[in-house]
Parts: sequence; C-alpha cells; structure tokens
Amino acid sequence: MKIRIGLGYDIHRLTEDRPLYLGGILIPYSRGLLGHSDGDCMIHAVVDALLGAMGERDIGQHFPNSDPKNEGRRSTEMLGVVSKWLYERGFQVSHIDTVIIAEEPKLNPYVSAMKESLCKLLKISPEDLGIKIKTNEGLGAIGRGEAIAVWASVLLCSKGEKENNE
Ligand code: MG
Repeated sequence: MKIRIGLGYDIHRLTEDRPLYLGGILIPYSRGLLGHSDGDCMIHAVVDALLGAMGERDIGQHFPNSDPKNEGRRSTEMLGVVSKWLYERGFQVSHIDTVIIAEEPKLNPYVSAMKESLCKLLKISPEDLGIKIKTNEGLGAIGRGEAIAVWASVLLCSKGEKENNE
C-alpha cells in the first residue's frame, strides 16, 4: 500500500481593489489577496501539499508567474489539474487538514462553502477535509491584518485502499 504525506504553506498580502478569493469561493470584504493568479492562498497551500505528497516541485514551478496563461487564473483550475494528476498516478486523497490564519474578515461563516468547493474539485467527502480558522492574536503582519496565511497537510493513499479499509 502506497501512503504519502504532504505539507503546504502559503501567505498572500491583503490589498485594496482586489476581490477576496479564499478556499475556492468569493468572500465579501473590502480587500483581497494580492497575487499573479486570484491569490487564493488556501488553495495554493493545498496544491503544494498535494504536489509534495506526489514528490513533485512546488506550485510556482508548475504554474509559473512568467506564463501569461496564469495571470488572473482561478486557483480552482490549478487544483483541478493537480487533482487529475494524482488520480492518474493511482492516488486518492485520504485526508486533508488545513489552518487558515487571518485577523480579518471573520471566516467561520464561509467554512461550509469552502468545503463544498474544495471537496467537489477533489472528489472527497466533507469529513475528509478539515478547515480551521485562527487569528494571529494581533501579532506581526498577519495580526495587523496585512496578510492571510494557510497551512495544509494531506495524506494520499493508493486508489482503492481507502474503500478496502473501511
Ligand atoms: Mg500563492
């Protein structure tokens, strides 16, 4: 049985005049995450964790800023591409856990919608994805509301193993 773990981290600056995309959804807020793509650092952390579990290099290597195709690109598309790769290589997602660190806005009301968006793309059940919301207790750049950071860990297993073990 093949089991792989992956770890991902990302941080993006919050800035005026940008929509806030996080966890694959649009969240109403006065500012958004700066980035070459839509800036969705939640998805970027999950994508990096999945790539790491597959022994691949990071998201910037696969979806470079230098490629005009990636400018303004929705991160949900990138997650869809990586999800396809892992299934093609005989893996399925056993579990994903994430921590979103944001002082503002209040994100708990959007956790269900984020889950729905990511679970659909990854073809997993809501109980296979953890999303935890934290503040940085007012400390540092995140605490001043200048950025949002996300940690993600994933466990991949061989296709079929998950069902066999249940
Ligand atoms: Mg990023």
